[in-house]
Amino acid sequence: MKRFTDDERLIEILSGLWVFTGLPSKSTPAIFHLMLTGECYGKPTFIPREGFQAVSNFLAKKFVEYSGEIKYRTKVSRILIKDSRAIGVLTSDDNEYHSDSIISNADSRKTFLDLVGRQHLPAKFISRINVHRTSASGISLQIGTSLDLSRFDLRYGNVFYHESWEDSNSYYDKAVANKVDFEMDNIPLSLQASSLFSDRLAPNGMNILHILLFPVSSSYKNNFGVINGERGEDYKRIKDQISNILIRKAEKIIPGLKDSIILKELSTPFTFERFTGATDGAWYDGVFSINDKQQKPSSHTPIKNLYITGTKAFGGAGLPSALNGGIKTAKTILSK
Ligand SMILES: Cc1cc2nc3c(=O)[nH]c(=O)nc-3n(C[C@H](O)[C@H](O)[C@H](O)COP(=O)(O)OP(=O)(O)OC[C@H]3O[C@@H](n4cnc5c(N)ncnc54)[C@H](O)[C@@H]3O)c2cc1C
Repeated sequence: MKRFTDDERLIEILSGLWVFTGLPSKSTPAIFHLMLTGECYGKPTFIPREGFQAVSNFLAKKFVEYSGEIKYRTKVSRILIKDSRAIGVLTSDDNEYHSDSIISNADSRKTFLDLVGRQHLPAKFISRINVHRTSASGISLQIGTSLDLSRFDLRYGNVFYHESWEDSNSYYDKAVANKVDFEMDNIPLSLQASSLFSDRLAPNGMNILHILLFPVSSSYKNNFGVINGERGEDYKRIKDQISNILIRKAEKIIPGLKDSIILKELSTPFTFERFTGATDGAWYDGVFSINDKQQKPSSHTPIKNLYITGTKAFGGAGLPSALNGGIKTAKTILSK
């Protein structure tokens, strides 16, 4: 962009969607920015009227209707390999399940390095997985409020509210190096007021507001006060502190927010790691850096009968990519 303009602020605005690529704009190929810009500004974007959970619920219902069985709260601890083929999975409650096709939607590194194990994989593939780059993690604050958010200019998929014109590339470097003080430094917030688009997302007279901050180092305040995986009183205190900072900062463009909050829930990199299994709570599994050799995402793996799915099979991030990854894997298996 510098070839076309030396207006730093214009460059900052035009590359403002870098957050969705998981890397700062200096590290992402221009083609991804162009694709994102075309997707997000060129066409209408959508949210599910009943919220994102409705998509999972719908797919789960269909799966069960077609005789599928879902075991919730059951972690796969190993993918079973026999004669270089995947034959089943072992779950953390010590049950084994066998199948002709095994599909993993777990974090790429964990699928291959933990669940399969290096001993079953070609050395070249392991070295590719070792350099597989995940995005950083971040913080997400969900708020339930009695404030009438329609009074504010928030009717967009995302509102990027940056407290300064600071170059986002240098902000990114500082944030991943844990050199940002959320209170004292200027931070870039992203706001989503989804209930303005659907009356099914909040009770009458109420609204939801989602405040996101990316990237965030998982070592912030001594690993958010988490000691040996234990989330104790320190963790709660730090979460409260961060929530209050984010609310205070958002109040600058949404006056009255603080006193209208009915419910708030903060997710940290540790929350994302716990609920999605993503290494270090990474928001996106695979990011495309300008320096990396591009690999065409595939549902195939070096192990016979083992497939990957979701965004890992399709590339990129987001619900469309996750659904397309599912379709791709299904087609691969059905054409076996
Ligand atoms: C804060 C945040 C906001 C976002 N906002 C949007 C948005 O507005 N729009 C959008 O399109 N995208 C959004 N995204 C991106 C989107 O959520 C992801 O790209 C998408 O969920 C990835 O889908 P997936 O199916 O590949 O993986 P995941 O959704 O991560 O699914 C992986 C599943 O595998 C399970 N799993 C992992 N390991 C194991 C194991 N060992 N045993 C059993 N199960 C396991 C996990 O529990 C999880 O259910 C957002 C992401 C974040 C973090």
